[in-house]
Amino acid sequence: MDWLERERQQVWHPYAPMVDPPPVYPVREAHGVRLTLEDGRELIDGMASWWCAIHGYNHPRLNEAVTGQLGRMAHVMFGGLTHRPAADLADRLVELTPEPLDKVFFCDSGSVSVEVALKMAVQYWQARGHTKRHRILTVRNGYHGDTAGAMSVCDPVNGMHHLFSAVLPERLFAPAPDCPTDDDFNDSCIQGVRDQLAAYAGEVAAVIIEPLVQGAGGMRFHCPRYLQRLRQLCDEHGVLLIFDEIATGFGRTGHLFACQGAGVTPDILCLGKALTGGYMTLAATLTTREVSDTLSSGDPGAFMHGPTFMANPLACAVANASIDELINSPWQANIARIENGLRRGLAPARELSNVTDVRCFGAIGVIEMTEAAAMHWMQPALVRRGVWVRPFGRLVYVMPPFVMTDGDLASLTSAMVETVAEAAA
Ligand SMILES: *Cc1c(COP(=O)(O)O)cnc(C)c1O
Repeated sequence: MDWLERERQQVWHPYAPMVDPPPVYPVREAHGVRLTLEDGRELIDGMASWWCAIHGYNHPRLNEAVTGQLGRMAHVMFGGLTHRPAADLADRLVELTPEPLDKVFFCDSGSVSVEVALKMAVQYWQARGHTKRHRILTVRNGYHGDTAGAMSVCDPVNGMHHLFSAVLPERLFAPAPDCPTDDDFNDSCIQGVRDQLAAYAGEVAAVIIEPLVQGAGGMRFHCPRYLQRLRQLCDEHGVLLIFDEIATGFGRTGHLFACQGAGVTPDILCLGKALTGGYMTLAATLTTREVSDTLSSGDPGAFMHGPTFMANPLACAVANASIDELINSPWQANIARIENGLRRGLAPARELSNVTDVRCFGAIGVIEMTEAAAMHWMQPALVRRGVWVRPFGRLVYVMPPFVMTDGDLASLTSAMVETVAEAAA
């Protein structure tokens, strides 16, 4: 394939070198939960294209939403103009998320929605005249995106801060939550956050955290009680609480939003990834009237952000269709079914000498190994077994589309277990 060799010379891939890059697999098309490679091989997709494609690929209703909107307009600027797809999407998001989150800022990717959330927090405190409140506190093992502001609140070690320390804003870090269930929680689990809030009283603008599941920073789960206590601490110190639900939003944890599962409402909420069912890039930052009114009353009387492709109509139209598809499906039963399938299918990995932990939560299944995956053979080994699973670090994990059948789930999990077993041998 001529174009593939050219591509190899010219195109960067994520977190990859440009000299002697690792091989990439050309995808010709994708339907349901299967990717079809150029050579005709079909792979069961365990990644949902980085958590996004919750309804699978080439979905007739989502396709129709895009083509229908395409016939009207693909895009218009959002400064001074608006359109029905954006209005309808904002309405749905306000309706589905907890009160009082009722103001919506659309932007183009998850990282940008985190930038927006951090800027909102800073402008909020400026408007209130607390100019010293500009620090951001977070926990270790987080992942919030790759742009500079978002990267600054990622885990300082696996977020590669040492490479960019000269240009990254300095943030406050507390230890990662280490309380998978409510029974594991006691107040010492959150002591680090308490200490930082006390040490920097009057200087912290906001705390940012991924609720219930820390995704790309290690696929770690924590309990509702941790978040309830975090909310209390933020209230005691008058600090804004930002939930990054870019990975957890839209059903992934078995709750429509993890904040609902935790019974905690943040002041600012970031959504992305599955928002458009994996069709195009779109994100949203929601906040309360209190934050938006206060911010708007300060200098310069507006929130200072405005991406070129803000509220892209095609993306909003497909997001509306994706949300309808989710809400009108038996999504809770479906995710419970997938969780069971993952638990059953991944359990045999516990017996392997190179596995330290197997954990599942909602439609998320994780095998944690003792050593980092040797990608040069592990990736081809997974593909040979007919599945698309992309390990990172010591983790071999999946977040399948919600429409995956039990049969495909069984094939997916046994391919994972067999491949990890091969690594132990
Ligand atoms: C993926 C992700 C982001 C970044 O989103 P992009 O669309 O890749 O910029 C931020 N936060 C979390 C929790 C994510 O999973």
